[in-house]
Amino acid sequence: MQPSPQSERVITVGDVVDVVERAYPPALAESWDAVGLVCGDREEQARGVLACVDVTEAVVDAAIEAGAGIVVAHHPLLLRGVTTLAADTAKGRIVHRLIRSGTALLAAHTNADSARPGVSDALADRLGVFDTVPIAPKPVDPLDKWVVMVPEGNVEQVSEAMFAAGAGTIGDYRDCSWSVVGTGQFEAGESASPAIGEIGMRTHVDEARVEMVAGRGLRAAVLRALRNAHPYEEPAFDVFELAAFGSDVGLGRVGALAEPMTLRDFTAMAARVLRTPAGVRAAGDPDALVRTVAVCGGAGDSLLDRVRGLDVDCYVTSDLRHHPADESLRVGGPALIDAGHWATEFPWCAQVTALLDAELGIPTTVFDEPTDPFVLHSSL
Ligand SMILES: [Zn+2]
Repeated sequence: MQPSPQSERVITVGDVVDVVERAYPPALAESWDAVGLVCGDREEQARGVLACVDVTEAVVDAAIEAGAGIVVAHHPLLLRGVTTLAADTAKGRIVHRLIRSGTALLAAHTNADSARPGVSDALADRLGVFDTVPIAPKPVDPLDKWVVMVPEGNVEQVSEAMFAAGAGTIGDYRDCSWSVVGTGQFEAGESASPAIGEIGMRTHVDEARVEMVAGRGLRAAVLRALRNAHPYEEPAFDVFELAAFGSDVGLGRVGALAEPMTLRDFTAMAARVLRTPAGVRAAGDPDALVRTVAVCGGAGDSLLDRVRGLDVDCYVTSDLRHHPADESLRVGGPALIDAGHWATEFPWCAQVTALLDAELGIPTTVFDEPTDPFVLHSSL
């Protein structure tokens, strides 16, 4: 812990949570993730912060010893369904010790992966990879485009209902829509109750094609509003998920080295600059030149296909499996460097402590003993 001149002000757990979640918005987390405050009271004072990748017993020891009021961890302690936190279970014991010692726990996981700067930016910085963009850009606020066919006389009623449900907002503008009139046709079946036309008769109607955007999270509400307001028993509509252009947040980063180097040299450099208890392993031609590099902190094999489409020379990540790695190389994919899970995420710890120091002036510590479960390494 390093004392800070601003530390006279009482800083609460809630202050720390707010700073971390402004930098790493929970809305950026993947849908399966569990980020946020795991235990702790937002109103309590946080005397210091301990940042780590995994919450282990040793991390709890260090947090208590340092008097840190809050642990900020990358991996959620509780991610999958939990039915007990009894103190004689591994996770329960950690939670008990945290609560008894008045130590809060905050997880910033895939939200910290996608945010900018985030986990992969810290890794890219460490490797000297510049001018990065995400491997998988993520819409900050994903949008749907709704296209609804409405009889001309009912356009206002349907549009207003959809606006009221939150559709039609673009930046600082609301009630935005676009429409053009065309001809719709249908023939009502025996059991239908058509608002216009008769059963068994081909009917032509002047209909407007009304278009507007809506946040993807509003999909159920907009659909309900549309159905309630539309005069037809079976309204015709389309919903398109809009592509995210130019988003600078998302998983992984891709950029370039200041100077090209061989895969052999780049691998050696990665081993030098990353704390890699297991060492670094690489796949590909050792003499091939590496100029462009993709990186993804943590387990990155789910991005292998995307990375292959980016035409980069090398992909640095961890937890690569034999077959996906081998198959990717065989179809012309980039050289691969597996630097270990902990080592590729650890650089983020310094990023989050620097952030908290700058914003709150709170004493911070990075737990820098590797929490990689594999502690024994042997080679010929
Ligand atoms: Zn991870």
